[in-house]
Amino acid sequence: YVAKGSGNGYFRYAENLDEEADEQARIGAELRVALDAGQFRMVYQPIVELPHGRIRGVEALVRWEHPTRGFVPPDQFIPAAERNGLIVELGDWILRTACEQAVAWHTELGEHAPYKMSVNVSARQLAQPGFSRVVSATLAQTGLAADRLTLEVTETAVFGGSHAVQALNELNELGVSIALDDFGTGHSSLGLLQTVPVDILKVDKSFVDNITMAGRHAVIATALIQVSTGLGLTAIAEGVETAEQAAELHRLGYRLAQGYHFGKPSATPDFGVTPIGAVGQ
Ligand code: C2E
Ligand code: MG
Ligand code: MG
Ligand code: MG
Repeated sequence: YVAKGSGNGYFRYAENLDEEADEQARIGAELRVALDAGQFRMVYQPIVELPHGRIRGVEALVRWEHPTRGFVPPDQFIPAAERNGLIVELGDWILRTACEQAVAWHTELGEHAPYKMSVNVSARQLAQPGFSRVVSATLAQTGLAADRLTLEVTETAVFGGSHAVQALNELNELGVSIALDDFGTGHSSLGLLQTVPVDILKVDKSFVDNITMAGRHAVIATALIQVSTGLGLTAIAEGVETAEQAAELHRLGYRLAQGYHFGKPSATPDFGVTPIGAVGQ
């Protein structure tokens, strides 16, 4: 364990097993209250087509609006929710809320609504027996077509056991798209791409960051677009912050991107106008 107080999360690691148990109980209680009190919110970040920046989809991202501590970002509570299992219930709420929102936008905006809704799924959710049944029930209850939903999982989650792989196969059967999130940063194995039904590779921000610099920086981003294209997968470049990065990604063959350059996560994204700073050719 890291010494108590040294973690950078809202919930810190305990020093010993007694403290760990206390800490887990406190976290469980707080997240439980937050869920019951409706303190979680969803925001949505555009996923756009290069080079013009037309919105193709959105990624749903959770936020905790804590009554006294203010805004708590997901990196600081998702791991805790994952450890104590509350992620399963929180994840159900996230999935349902995102699907409802996608249907509401579709009803309101028709073809101007983003086609795809992308939802992050944690390792623990994916490993939960019956996860695909939860997804199919949620689609049925909200009225969202399966092909409008993408579930984002990490490579590490896919390695979370046989239930995870079975769930991915069942989700694929339902017609839901599967994206490998933060691709290239986990327990990467390209062999994974042959054994699980992946549709989308989300190329991690770390491979986008220095892409416009000369030298070795663009090598992995280049390799990953080639792997994607060769296997008939869709690549999405994550964390695009500048017009230069967007132009370089387009030049390398990327057709989809996401990042602050095109739009920050928002409760009310604007689908009507050309995104600010959309790149030209
Ligand atoms: P992720 O799924 O890889 O989501 C992308 C993260 O990068 C988001 O952070 C997003 O706000 C941020 N981002 C997007 N564009 C840029 C950019 O141009 N520059 C920079 N610096 N950052 C950018 P966020 O919302 O804080 O989420 C962090 C992580 O927490 C997510 O990474 C995901 O792993 C997890 N997470 C977020 N929402 C959920 C959720 O609803 N369920 C689960 N299970 N995990 C979630
Ligand atoms: Mg994601
Ligand atoms: Mg990601
Ligand atoms: Mg990421």
